[in-house]
This record gives sequence, C-alpha cells and structure tokens, in this order.
Amino acid sequence: MTAVPGTRQLVGEGWSLRAERIEMLQGNDWRAVIGVRRGLKLLVTWSDQGQELDVEAWAGEPEETEGVAVVDMGDGDIRLAPVPLCSCGERGCGNAGIQLSKWLPGEELPVLIELLRELPWTKTIPIPSNVLRGNGLAAIEDLDADTFTSAGSYLYAPGTGEIFPLSPRHLGGPLVAGHRGRRLRRLR
Ligand SMILES: [Zn+2]
Repeated sequence: MTAVPGTRQLVGEGWSLRAERIEMLQGNDWRAVIGVRRGLKLLVTWSDQGQELDVEAWAGEPEETEGVAVVDMGDGDIRLAPVPLCSCGERGCGNAGIQLSKWLPGEELPVLIELLRELPWTKTIPIPSNVLRGNGLAAIEDLDADTFTSAGSYLYAPGTGEIFPLSPRHLGGPLVAGHRGRRLRRLR
C-alpha cells in the first residue's frame, strides 16, 4: 500500500482512496487523515516495518476532537458514538480502550471505511464494557491480560475482570496505554 501525496491518494491493490491530507514521515512511513463521513475521520499511520496500518477514529481533527468508538448494542447491532472527554481532561485517557483504534492490514481499509459509512450513530456513551471487541473489522482488541500485562501497565487486573481508570494522573501510567500495549505486542 502506498501514499501519493501529490494527488492525496492512498493506493492499494485494485483500489485507491482520497485522503484529506497525507504527511510523509521518516523512511517510507506516512500518515493520512481520511474524511469518512460527517463526524468521522480516520487517522491512518503506515509503518513500512509493520506492514500494517494503525487506524484511529476521530470526530474531527485527530487529537483535537473526540475519539469515536463502535458500540455493541447487542444482537449484531453496532453503532458509532463519540467518546466523552475524561473528567481529568486528558483526551488519551478517555479514549484508551474505548476509541476505535487498531492495527489493520492495508487491504482491509476500504472495507472498514465502507462499513463505518453505513453504521448508525447512538447516544449511548461508549464505555469499556459496551464497545465492540474481538476480531471483527470494526472491533478493537479484547481486554486480555496478555495485552495489558505485557505493556507493564496497571490498567487491568487479571482474574478480577476489573478495569481501572486510565489516566496518567490517576495512576502514573502511560498516557495511552492501549496504544503502547498494541505496539509492544506487535514487536514481540
Ligand atoms: Zn482521566
């Protein structure tokens, strides 16, 4: 998968997508912001080393607006919802473990975008226990003990099923533990 900054195209095998903007990073890495629909943009980061895309869903400008989560309403009904800012004021804190944020093979990006365009919105507040998890395209990783303990964080207590608040201010933990966990796991 390649990015063509001149035409703002992301090009894969048999498909291409128009991005709102593309930034070239070190080496062959790049990141792009894709306008999916009203109230939903994807920040996609390509690392040549990883051969996968890091995808994050945002309501607007990444890092400056609310994250967007996919809420599992039950019976296969999945919907989009913005992630409220945590009371501590750290956006990464409220988003961790809730925002749609995952690794994805580049070839699956057009399918994910198509799916996200179709989903209805919900006023349900996304929380760790209602967001879509598992292997689905729009799902984030399970809160398995492996991910979290390997990140060396205190976010998840294995065996208790209890998830603690994620703020660095609350716990002195990493700012966005979910990201850290995923990256470590990928590198292992
Ligand atoms: Zn917080």
